[in-house]
Amino acid sequence: MVSETSKQPRINLDRLLGDIEALGRFGATDRGGVNRPVYSDADLGARQWLEAAAIDAGLGFRSDAIGNCFLTLAGAQPNEPKVWTGSHIDTVPDGGRLDGAYGVLSGLECLRTLVEVGFVPARTIEVVAFADEEGAYGSFLGSRALADGLAADYLTGLAGRHGEPLADGLARIGSSIDAVVAQAPISADEVAAFVELHIEQGPVLEDAGLDIGVVTDIVEVAHGFVTFLGQADHAGTTPMALRRDATRAAGSFLTGLPTVPADHGSRTAVSTCGMIGVEPGAANIVVEEIRLSLDVRDRAGNVPALQGAVEELARRSADEHGLNHRLQWTSLTPGVALDGGMQQQVADAADRVGVSHHRMVSGAGHDAQVMARVVPTGMIFVPSKNGRSHSPVESTAPSDLETGANVLLETLIGTAT
Ligand SMILES: [Zn+2]
Repeated sequence: MVSETSKQPRINLDRLLGDIEALGRFGATDRGGVNRPVYSDADLGARQWLEAAAIDAGLGFRSDAIGNCFLTLAGAQPNEPKVWTGSHIDTVPDGGRLDGAYGVLSGLECLRTLVEVGFVPARTIEVVAFADEEGAYGSFLGSRALADGLAADYLTGLAGRHGEPLADGLARIGSSIDAVVAQAPISADEVAAFVELHIEQGPVLEDAGLDIGVVTDIVEVAHGFVTFLGQADHAGTTPMALRRDATRAAGSFLTGLPTVPADHGSRTAVSTCGMIGVEPGAANIVVEEIRLSLDVRDRAGNVPALQGAVEELARRSADEHGLNHRLQWTSLTPGVALDGGMQQQVADAADRVGVSHHRMVSGAGHDAQVMARVVPTGMIFVPSKNGRSHSPVESTAPSDLETGANVLLETLIGTAT
């Protein structure tokens, strides 16, 4: 709750809620969610809306080659490294209205509030809406372009969920792979600090009745696929004993997968298979090939042990049924410890707003973990109702949205002055 006696500037909740509503219309689904992958029509509409909102608020606006958008409040010392905040406005298929958008729109509301009260920070403050956080083409594409730079070979190999090349997506925002490659990554001379405000997407804050999460670490994530290989045969004429049915190994594997974290990881380790592909895929044919997606997460440094256990489980599951298998890890996103100074900035900001805070690990990946490689980075969480996210039911109480945005505002004031 916001202190009534505070003389400090505070955000306008109605305006923030209005923005969440307005941006949520781009890609709105019948189920009350949002389907807004990067470079889609909905995303293009959302970008135009964001630009108009920035200009309305008296802020600068620009976008870069990969499609990151920047909303700028110029500081009194324009040559000093900037302070960045932000998140993403793309969503997973049938996602919610808050994941990512809340951080970007709160950033917009914070800058609008500062303009309104005539507060000129020493450092320039920018709100960044990172492109393709959700990985329609490649996870954290926008933040990785800024932090690391992206190579032509890598970009040329990227395709969307339906096989469309990244170049086609970039063309929709008037850009190209060459333009992305030519864009230099940022340096510490340009950006002094980054802070991302985000919904928790888990149940920890709500369970504990706490207002604000100060994120200490972001988990390490490995993604991959395991494919079990059998033989396609007639479902009516092939006796059970003579089948090489790929679903048998997959069944053993899926039964074992949930036990891997407890046996080989830390208390917060998790493992998931979220996609199953079956070939040839007909009711009257024994399955020849079954492809399972893999997602394993744990604290920084623990994930290789989980990966080893998953590999062993896949081997055992295939052997048990006399089948072959292939296992391929497609990415390992390193976990990071966030900057101690930025954690303190967020904790102090929560104190100034007069709300409780709790240091915690993020089980979800965020642009902050990429930015943390090059810039002192902090992260602020607000509670998620029932811990739900990546779904239309994603929700946070308006009072919690207000608290989070005010903690962001205080963090920005503290970091930029
Ligand atoms: Zn997000």
